[in-house]
Amino acid sequence: MPIRYGLLLILALLLAACAGTPAATPTPEAAQIIIPTEDARPAINVVVTTGMIADMVKSIGGTRVNVTQLMGPGVDPHLYTASENDVQTISNAQIIFYNGLNLEARLSEIFQQIGQSKPVIALGDRLPPELIKKHEGYDAPDPHIWMDVSLWAQLVTIVRDELTKLDPDSSGRYSLAADAYRQSLNDVHNMALETIATIPEEQRILITAHDAFAYFGRAYNIEVFAPQGITTAAEAGVEDIRRTIQLIIDRKVPAIFVETSVPPDVMDAIIAGAAAQGVTVANGGALYSDAMGQPDTQDGTYAGMIRHNVDTIVAALNPTPQQGQ
Ligand SMILES: [Zn+2]
Repeated sequence: MPIRYGLLLILALLLAACAGTPAATPTPEAAQIIIPTEDARPAINVVVTTGMIADMVKSIGGTRVNVTQLMGPGVDPHLYTASENDVQTISNAQIIFYNGLNLEARLSEIFQQIGQSKPVIALGDRLPPELIKKHEGYDAPDPHIWMDVSLWAQLVTIVRDELTKLDPDSSGRYSLAADAYRQSLNDVHNMALETIATIPEEQRILITAHDAFAYFGRAYNIEVFAPQGITTAAEAGVEDIRRTIQLIIDRKVPAIFVETSVPPDVMDAIIAGAAAQGVTVANGGALYSDAMGQPDTQDGTYAGMIRHNVDTIVAALNPTPQQGQ
């Protein structure tokens, strides 16, 4: 309400100034009134870990949030440790959103500490536990929840509500932005479902270095396999590589994928190992697993990251050339 009133007043003053003498500059009084009342409040300092979370918080918070993202493009959250600078940034935040489910394993201690004095939200812990995947052979839950867009979209409400608690005056704008963001995620989810379904079922097998795509596989009906397991902290052994090559041979897999936040060594070893056995398997391209692309590019957004992955997977696994594209 105050902001609307302020804007009307400014408009009225500008119109009055223009109507009288077109070349007139606003009076000093008018310039003083132009300072908007509501947005003069400082934005909320938010710290997030991954780009996927930054995308959501910025989309819902708009100009009311000042988001600092700790992990940039190509950064592996499993291995990330806080720098001195990060500790300072985290201390200055009013609220922190992180993925949780042990993704940012090396930050858990500092988050626990800071959580005693300010809201520190582990988003994964807010999802229904029955929707959290357990990885075969691990006790820990699978943290890669952003890979199922419909699951990730359930967190929109959590972010909206946490921002509203800190800034109840902006509740209306958070609600509107949250609804719009949820709708855009819904569109991305449907696009992924429809596009992955164009790959013939027997060809639908996604091999990546580390097991970041289990939720993706569950949501979009594609089998997934990774020699390295659920965290990049575990290394793929010779036996893991041998099993992967055997799978490629048995299932006639045309391509495997590298990840932008994981060194390509293991996948290179698999391609070379298969070649040594007379089997050609292509590098299908780089997928965004645990980090998004460069900022200010399509791939630097959450929707763009998922689109890139879907398009890359379909182009490499679909044996029929897509007509007219
Ligand atoms: Zn991962």
